Amino acid sequence: MHAIRLHGVEDARFDDVVEPELRQGTVKVKVAWAGICGSDLSLYQHAPVPLDYANPIMGEIGPKTLGHEFSGTVTEVAADVNGIEVGDLVAVQPNFADGTCPACVRGEPNLCRNFAFIGIHGWGGGFSDYVVVPADHAFVLPEGISLEVGALVESLSVAWHAVKKSGATVGSTALVVGAGPIGLGLLLCLKAIGAEQVIVSELSSSRKELARTFGGDVVDPREVDLEAYVRSVSAGGVDVSFDASGVGKPTLQAALNSLRPGGTSVIVAEFHGEVPIDPNLFLLGERALVGSFAYTAEDFSEVIAAIADGRMSPAPLITSKIALADSVERGIEHLLREGRSTEVKILVSPALLRTEH
Ligand SMILES: [Zn+2]
Repeated sequence: MHAIRLHGVEDARFDDVVEPELRQGTVKVKVAWAGICGSDLSLYQHAPVPLDYANPIMGEIGPKTLGHEFSGTVTEVAADVNGIEVGDLVAVQPNFADGTCPACVRGEPNLCRNFAFIGIHGWGGGFSDYVVVPADHAFVLPEGISLEVGALVESLSVAWHAVKKSGATVGSTALVVGAGPIGLGLLLCLKAIGAEQVIVSELSSSRKELARTFGGDVVDPREVDLEAYVRSVSAGGVDVSFDASGVGKPTLQAALNSLRPGGTSVIVAEFHGEVPIDPNLFLLGERALVGSFAYTAEDFSEVIAAIADGRMSPAPLITSKIALADSVERGIEHLLREGRSTEVKILVSPALLRTEH
């Protein structure tokens, strides 16, 4: 079969690899769709996991297959697995915890010190024909959720976890800075839990349009004084804010300055440098700044339930569908160039034919 494997910095190849075999407690998934994520771009540009590094949970060295946001059809089930059948459509929770470290014992498996992801650390990845996954990480999609939408469950779970960390609830007001895949996911999740008003700050016209479609109160910070606008429409500041852009001081400062006293801001983007912050913002007004990392099995289930019962309709996040063989040039490299402002989520499929060059 084929797989897109990362061999080094800006070196991802469409390789011939051996099809994975069923192990105890696993199912084999024929990949239908896999999303390209901002972290795939970062992996491609920086190759932060050395080829000779073996994660303690996965025990594999590189080159590793990319793709951690994927859905597919179950084609084989190990004899000791119950509750999943051949033919089931599933979304795969790709992150794993060792179950024994202090974070795992505390009940925070997403913070496991040995955390590992399919698509980054080993056990294959969604950018391939088949992946063998532990059965408890294969979430059967209820009727009515397509495989395309199933491939969005992972990135929506990142947003869902962040919304829970913020403490937002029915009637909350919120600011989301940056309407990329995670920012738009935050908007969908906030609306799904009953937030009253979600202000979205974004520059790209196509992303602004999508945010409006999802019910966001969209502001272009080049045209409007964002902080003044937030204060004027939200009784002095929002309950919760999110920096989903990771740009730096301009975005994080806007997220913090827009909070009401007692409000909480959540960091859900990766920053590439230090950002100076005024600590008095937190002292005088008891504001809080927290981080949010990945998600748990509970978040995955809650996202699937919210899509199934219609609280979230995330399909418009998908802006392009391309062949697995094209996923470096027309996917990753495209997103690092002009695609950054025109695309939201690109899905890759092994079943699509390569574009003629
Ligand atoms: Zn652990």
